[in-house]
Amino acid sequence: MKPILKIILVVAFLAGVIMLLTPRNEVESVNIYSSRNEGLIKPLLDEFTAETGIQVNLLTGSGDGLLTRLQNEGRNTEADLFLTVDAGALHRAKIAGLFQPVQSDILNQALPSNLRDRDNEWFGLSMRARTIFYANERVDPSELSDYLALADEKWRGRICVRSSDNLYNQSLVAAMIAHYGEEITEQWARGLVANFGRKPVGGDRDQLHAVASGQCDIAIANSYYYGGMTASDDQTSIDTIKKVSLFWAAQNAEGTHVNVSGIGLLRHAKNADAAIMLMEFLASEASQEWYAQANQEFPVRADTELSPILANWGPFKADPLPISELGEHNADAVRLMNRAGWR
Ligand code: FE
Repeated sequence: MKPILKIILVVAFLAGVIMLLTPRNEVESVNIYSSRNEGLIKPLLDEFTAETGIQVNLLTGSGDGLLTRLQNEGRNTEADLFLTVDAGALHRAKIAGLFQPVQSDILNQALPSNLRDRDNEWFGLSMRARTIFYANERVDPSELSDYLALADEKWRGRICVRSSDNLYNQSLVAAMIAHYGEEITEQWARGLVANFGRKPVGGDRDQLHAVASGQCDIAIANSYYYGGMTASDDQTSIDTIKKVSLFWAAQNAEGTHVNVSGIGLLRHAKNADAAIMLMEFLASEASQEWYAQANQEFPVRADTELSPILANWGPFKADPLPISELGEHNADAVRLMNRAGWR
């Protein structure tokens, strides 16, 4: 070997040793795109950073906006994780090819199988029930039973619910399709629309206020809105809570319709290991307890203590339908609602 080559080899070897021995001051990090309100996730992310030293960068936006952004960014995206609400939205991200499957014993053990994607591409992190609320003064809870019964003509002009472009409603209808088939579900949707007390307007909170103000006698809404009002010291919320009660729908049928907020590892994640650690952290007992307390959502782990407000509502049978099916029936649900005149 020529001396010059020997020198080059020795220098290259030494350079390699120096690189290995030099502490990397580059901090590990994870980037999340999230459609959740920052206050509902940031404290947990800070806790994760404190425990692991892994920096978490959070970009918050609308679910659809972030999904489009991820599609546009493709493999150049900085994002490692996508966090959003509703199984329908998670399914859309899956169908768009944005996620990759995650095999984690920790996640599989923590979450019941019906609250995660069947291909392990996304995982539920919190659970919400979409149930029936009624006016204490005008409805006796013994008149209530399941969702199907809300199509009965005795409720003519008495039901308030938001519009059909809302994912929560689409997922409810998707669940009905999964249980009863399209024909019965469409008949039901027509009956429900005929019973609307007004044209769908506003969000879930508005439907609850409409029951309190006497515009409607029944509302369909997500449990955490009612829970949030119960925890609130705002006077409108206090007044509404006094006049409106929660009823666990379909306890003698399929069970109350539930949905999740959830998270998935992106296909082009650059920090996959750290991202999976964060997913597992969010499913841990401590995180689940905080998560549920902060937003009055139900933990996805059975071993988590409920907030006093949730405990006060009493136990209920949740619809055991795999949440994956909500997304799978979403397109059919949207068409069906259209046909039924649900605007
Ligand atoms: Fe919501």
